[in-house]
Amino acid sequence: MNTIAFIGLGNMGGPMAENLLAAGLKVRVFDLMPDAVKNLESAGAYAASSMTDAVEGAQVVITMLPASQHVKDVYLGNDKATGLLDEVEDGAFLIDSSTIDPHSARMVAERAAQKGLDFVDAPVSGGVAGAKAGTLTFIVGGSDAAFAKAEDILKHMGKNIFHAGKAGDGQMGKICNNLMLGILMSGTCEALNLGIDNGLDPKVLSNIMLQSSGRNWALELYNPCPGVMETSPASNGYRPGFMSKLMLKDLGLGLDAAAMSKSSVPMGSLARNLYAFHNANGNEELDFSSLFEFYQSEK
Ligand code: NAD
Repeated sequence: MNTIAFIGLGNMGGPMAENLLAAGLKVRVFDLMPDAVKNLESAGAYAASSMTDAVEGAQVVITMLPASQHVKDVYLGNDKATGLLDEVEDGAFLIDSSTIDPHSARMVAERAAQKGLDFVDAPVSGGVAGAKAGTLTFIVGGSDAAFAKAEDILKHMGKNIFHAGKAGDGQMGKICNNLMLGILMSGTCEALNLGIDNGLDPKVLSNIMLQSSGRNWALELYNPCPGVMETSPASNGYRPGFMSKLMLKDLGLGLDAAAMSKSSVPMGSLARNLYAFHNANGNEELDFSSLFEFYQSEK
């Protein structure tokens, strides 16, 4: 049976690792936050005391970290610590599910290949609810053979597993998706706020738009107006979820990619500026649907 090392047990990594345990796999976990490790230990994981301890004897390593720099530090090392590429078992298979820039993903894949290790980028979509339910969408970049190996593991945490193309292409697919998500969430907040300002009940308006051409993922599964949808972060003080600072990061990745390919992204730029403003107002840790409060406060 595969032993899997899982590093990064935050809003997404925690429930993803739990699903691997539920599938009967042996999981060794590590996070910089001791509480996150403890939670997984009580779900049956081996609580590693360090990254080195986590990858010992593991044939598969999965990382779920905030951003590009964390991923480069963890795999390649820095002036304070050795990277995973020098610590994993011979032949270990490496999967990074964080959302990072495609260039960094390709760099890690190349450095892994130089050591005879397979690495795929496999960012996800589906939010915390999808991570808990094991219904995430994985968008994978890597060779055909590496994709086949990845599918076998990712199926325990997700429902749809796509092969986007070569190394880094998983990240590019994810970045395009989140550029659209940032725009859709901004538009959904804007339309709901306009309706409320003009005397409509947000529940009634949401139902109308759900059966009309404004229907979209944010409205259907992640309504940003508190009280409309019991299960959405909005009805729980905008926690937990996909933090506004992570949406700002992803929109920045979209704009960087657009600059490289000389693509026009006027809507993405607007959404990024909205999130920059929202983050600067102290909302970094709140779920990204809290952008609704920005509209509400602009009276
Ligand atoms: P999070 O901040 O909740 O979790 C990240 C975890 O990584 C934290 O627990 C942190 O302590 C840990 N970490 C950071 N550096 C570490 C290191 N060197 N060693 C060990 N642990 C380390 O973030 P999240 O919401 O779980 O998101 C993780 C990634 O998934 C991000 O790239 C995000 O963009 C992406 N993502 C998130 C969502 C979502 O809904 N939250 C959805 C899709 C994709």
